[in-house]
Amino acid sequence: IRDIVVIGAGQAAGTAVAALRQFGHQGRITMIGEEPAPPYQRPPLSKAYFKGELPAEKLYVKPEAFYSDQDIDLRLGHRAVAIDRDKETVTLDNGERLRYGYLVIATGARPRMLAAEGADLKGVAILRTLADVESLRPQAVKGKRLVVIGAGYIGLEAAAVARQIGLDVCVLEAADRVLQRVTSPAISDFYQEVHAAAGVDIRLGARFKRFTGVDDRLTGVELEDGTLVPADIALVGIGVVPNQELAQQAGLLCENGINTDACSRTSDPAIFAIGDCANRVIAQYAFRGRLESVHNAIETAKIAAAAICGKPTPTVDAPWFWSDQYDIKLQTAGLLNGFDEAVVRGDYAARRFSVWYLKNGVFLALDAVNMPGDFMLAKRLVGTGIRLDPTALKDPSFDLKTLLI
Ligand code: FAD
Repeated sequence: IRDIVVIGAGQAAGTAVAALRQFGHQGRITMIGEEPAPPYQRPPLSKAYFKGELPAEKLYVKPEAFYSDQDIDLRLGHRAVAIDRDKETVTLDNGERLRYGYLVIATGARPRMLAAEGADLKGVAILRTLADVESLRPQAVKGKRLVVIGAGYIGLEAAAVARQIGLDVCVLEAADRVLQRVTSPAISDFYQEVHAAAGVDIRLGARFKRFTGVDDRLTGVELEDGTLVPADIALVGIGVVPNQELAQQAGLLCENGINTDACSRTSDPAIFAIGDCANRVIAQYAFRGRLESVHNAIETAKIAAAAICGKPTPTVDAPWFWSDQYDIKLQTAGLLNGFDEAVVRGDYAARRFSVWYLKNGVFLALDAVNMPGDFMLAKRLVGTGIRLDPTALKDPSFDLKTLLI
């Protein structure tokens, strides 16, 4: 029986250790986590937890007793600093060496930073960890001015919560639409309208220059064109970079993330990579890429655990994602890269509609706004190669269920 070391203690790692025991692994399991907390879910950090509507206990992937009950050795507050593949060891920041039979890398991703003047001022924030929220929340009180840099999902979710709390919110986005990297113009336009209606000042084509401050405290954000946007808090949400350096230094193949095969295995058969740090095979589209979602973290973790335990590979679902802003739930099934047609079904004005993405008439992906039924159905169609008729889709009397037959 081989000992297993897991580097990282986030969503993917927490799922992997539970699945390893579930699939019958009887050897030692050690999980190394840099953060002081056991594995927790990050999505609420920019939603209900940021708003103060969810207790911290609800964030945890497993109750604390789970790890001792399952004989999982948690090393929290420690960083893995090196992997030696010849000796099959991982070195921790305290010099300790752990031997592994199998190694699982679940190091996630970290926020991309703005290497700009004033980035170290008090009031400049990021949103990735519980500690980030704990420092942000006390500052985010009614009447304060928040500037969000980057109109991605996390930035817009935080903007929505801040408006609901009563802050003045301005969102600065360099592109010509919000959510440009992740969705279509139809959804971008919708969210821009939603935020504008809620009183968020959205500025597109805004080129960030530097943070301004007095003493060590932030006072505003300056743009390239000289505009000064006053701010008490500036939240930087310009995407993440995968934590792949450890793997790279150990000579594992990495291209945006640590390359893995359909079993979450890296270029070294004894080493697996899962979650945000992995560049995986995306079966439904026959390409590889790095996904940043809870579903991906859970799925790749279970796939790795099954491979380690010699079990069949679990069913692979369509990639999916969600975002909550105000009273609007967006659910995405599949990946829309390369679509050439976006068909809107439902009532845009009533904030209940779905956008169906097609390429040469073949269904690729869907964004559903307050339409959970469409989302559930579309998830089953992703990767089937089904051709869809745009005219039928737009017709409210067309019964989507007939597509499953
Ligand atoms: P992480 O959760 O990042 O965990 C990795 C852990 O490894 C971290 O704790 C890190 O400190 C630790 N680590 C890194 N290097 C080392 C090392 N050398 N030694 C020891 N420990 C190390 N996804 C959705 O699907 N829907 C959402 O609505 C959604 N909302 C989100 C909102 C926010 C604010 C954030 C930050 C993310 C959100 N996500 C959402 C994304 C989702 O949370 C991530 O995809 C998921 O957490 C990835 O899990 P992971 O285990 O790969 O990485």
